[in-house]
Amino acid sequence: MSTGGYGDSAGANRPLPNLTDPLMRPHWDAAREGRLELPRCQNCRFVIWPVLSMCPECASREIAWEPMSGRGKIWSWAVYDTALHPAFETEVPYVVALIELDEGASFVSNIVGAESETLAIGLEVRAVAEQVTPEITLIRFRVAGPQEVDTAPSR
Ligand SMILES: [Zn+2]
Repeated sequence: MSTGGYGDSAGANRPLPNLTDPLMRPHWDAAREGRLELPRCQNCRFVIWPVLSMCPECASREIAWEPMSGRGKIWSWAVYDTALHPAFETEVPYVVALIELDEGASFVSNIVGAESETLAIGLEVRAVAEQVTPEITLIRFRVAGPQEVDTAPSR
């Protein structure tokens, strides 16, 4: 598990997810244990993200949270060089990206540990779990190493 670039001081005042939302609770429980889990339709296997109580593909309500591979590609990204909240002032510039997971879902998160000049659409990324408070771990992404890309299975 990566420690990333987020120090303890940033955790106290930053806007954080609402852990009391029962629809999202499994995601935060898994993240705290270092896993990216997303809801998957047990009828058609569609990954339902953002979470819904019914599959948008087949209308099934048989939905279970499953671990994802953590593998994906950058679909697009933006560099934030202005802090839109005071808690992020020590973190700019930071990268917010739309990541296309190998399982098909699109996931919005940060790319950590990379200079924005090195990012590209289609670049392989891997999920990392970063603890920001004792209760909250966020799933972020890092650029995949060359060996990781070479061994990537096809979809
Ligand atoms: Zn379905």
